[in-house]
Amino acid sequence: MWKRNSKNIKLLLYIIFLLISIGLIILLLISEPTPDYTERSFDTLGTYVTVKISGDKVASNTLLDIIESELKRVNDKFSANLESSVVYEINKNKIARLDDESMFLIKSALNISEITGKAFDLTIRPLVELWGFHDQYALASVPDTEKIKEYLNYIDYRFVKIDENNNSIEIINENTKIDLGGIAKGYAIDRAINRINEIDKGATGFINAGGDIGIIGPKYGKLPWAIGIRDPKSSNAYDITDIVYLYNGSIVTSGNYERYIIEDNVRYHHILDPKTGFPANNAISTTVIADNTLIADAFSTAIFVLGFDNPALEYFTNFGIQAMVISEDEEKNETSGFDYFRRKGRK
Ligand code: ADP
Ligand code: MG
Repeated sequence: MWKRNSKNIKLLLYIIFLLISIGLIILLLISEPTPDYTERSFDTLGTYVTVKISGDKVASNTLLDIIESELKRVNDKFSANLESSVVYEINKNKIARLDDESMFLIKSALNISEITGKAFDLTIRPLVELWGFHDQYALASVPDTEKIKEYLNYIDYRFVKIDENNNSIEIINENTKIDLGGIAKGYAIDRAINRINEIDKGATGFINAGGDIGIIGPKYGKLPWAIGIRDPKSSNAYDITDIVYLYNGSIVTSGNYERYIIEDNVRYHHILDPKTGFPANNAISTTVIADNTLIADAFSTAIFVLGFDNPALEYFTNFGIQAMVISEDEEKNETSGFDYFRRKGRK
């Protein structure tokens, strides 16, 4: 009796084991292989860049090389600090010939300056230099108020004239200089993603350049990337205040914690209001979601300047963006379509 029972139990265990094995094999057969992600970090565009990618046809490391060199190429071409850059030449000579790419980027910056009524202004450079925010090693300090007033006269995108027929640019005020720092990072990310799409359409991953994120493709080809929005009040960069989910497109956050000085207990940061000459102080963080990173980048700067209770916020959705602004007391104001991106399960 006892013997027969133990035989039955053994048989039952064998059957269960067999069924589980068959189940696992079926699961393995129907599930696609999940790609491995390769990560790389480096410094360029005045910030810390992290790229996560999985190639489809091309090796991930080859794709990372392409992204790194494309971001660095755009940095070298448009950094106002580098004597070899296009922007340096324009600022020095006030007149220059433009190749197609420079024309495109400067035209985009001019358009955004106009659309945002000078909240974004590509001629902010003299003030950025006066404050000392132009390079990470410059010692920034609060400038003399009279000097700020004087410099305000140099800040106006209408001093920049482009001639598309002759591929040329002219700055008609001798003290005016341009600065593409509020837009070039986004443009560089778009360019890098384009290059990856050209050679490996099935590649997935993202590029994160100090809070400017461009998605190369959904996680494992099908899932959204969960993107944490940094808590602007926390000194810990890993504390988040919100999460959004993106399959593709771009998301850019500008905060008053990126680059700043503290004098007499007041924080002075690097996003300047072209109307006052002082750091914009009616928001502490803005996040913009758009189809491309250039638009998200420029609008995040502009919306930061316009501040928390800016009546034009919803109007900007006409330009294909959704935005969220955080005030000093951590209230959130957002466009009508922003919440959509908080829903993970959407398609
Ligand atoms: P970050 O990602 O570092 O927060 P942003 O994209 O918000 O940077 O842009 C900040 C940079 O843009 C500054 O370092 C400066 O070069 C430039 N900038 C600052 N204020 C303005 C402005 N009102 N309009 C256009 N560019 C600006
Ligand atoms: Mg920006």
